[in-house]
Amino acid sequence: MPTRGDRQLRAMQLAKQLAALGARLKTIHLITGIPPRQVQSLFFPDSRSIPRGRAPDSAEWYHGANLILRTDACLIGAKYHQLRTQGLAAGEALVLAYRAYQAATLPPYRISLDRAFNLISYIDGIWLATAPTLSVLTCPSCGCEFIAAVGTVAYPGDACPFCKLFERFYLDHRIQASYPARRTCDIAERQLGMLALFHMLSPGAEGDTPAE
Ligand SMILES: [Zn+2]
Repeated sequence: MPTRGDRQLRAMQLAKQLAALGARLKTIHLITGIPPRQVQSLFFPDSRSIPRGRAPDSAEWYHGANLILRTDACLIGAKYHQLRTQGLAAGEALVLAYRAYQAATLPPYRISLDRAFNLISYIDGIWLATAPTLSVLTCPSCGCEFIAAVGTVAYPGDACPFCKLFERFYLDHRIQASYPARRTCDIAERQLGMLALFHMLSPGAEGDTPAE
C-alpha cells in the first residue's frame, strides 16, 4: 500500500512535470489536488512565468477544428486511452500521452497541455467534466483510434481524421509539414513515417496500409 508520503511525492512529481509542459495553475491543481498557491510558490517562483490567458473551455472545439488539429487531438486521445486501458492513473496517462504527441510533431505545439487536459476531461468524464461527451473509437477502415462524440458509431469511410489525412497527405503540403517523421524529400520515406504514426496509434491494427 502506498503511504501518504508516497502519494504526496507522486503528486509533487506530477505537478512538476505538468508545470514543465506549460500547464496552468488550475489545471495542475485539478489533476494533483495541490492548492494553486502552493503550485505557484513551488514551481513558478517568478510570477511572470505563470501561464496566463483564457483556458480552453469546451470540448465543442474538437468538432469545429481543422483536420490537422483534429489529428493532433486524436494522437493525444488515442495514446491516453491506450495508457488508461493498461491501468495508468489519469494524470500520469495525460503527461505520457502529451509527450508522445510532442514526439510526433514539431514545436510550436498546436495543442497546449491545457487543451489536452480539456479533451481528456470530456473523454473520461473527469476533472472539468461530470460525464463523458467524447469517446475514443477504432476506425473500421484504417484501424486507428480517433475521437468522436459519445454515441457515434464508426462506419468505414466516415468521420476518421486519419483516413482523411492519408487521402490528402500527398496533395497537401501543410499536412506533410505538420509531422516531423516526414521531414524528408523522399515520398516513400514520408509514407513510412505516416505508417509509423498509424502503428503508434493502433498496435493491434493488421496490415501495413489502411484499407481503401
Ligand atoms: Zn480511419
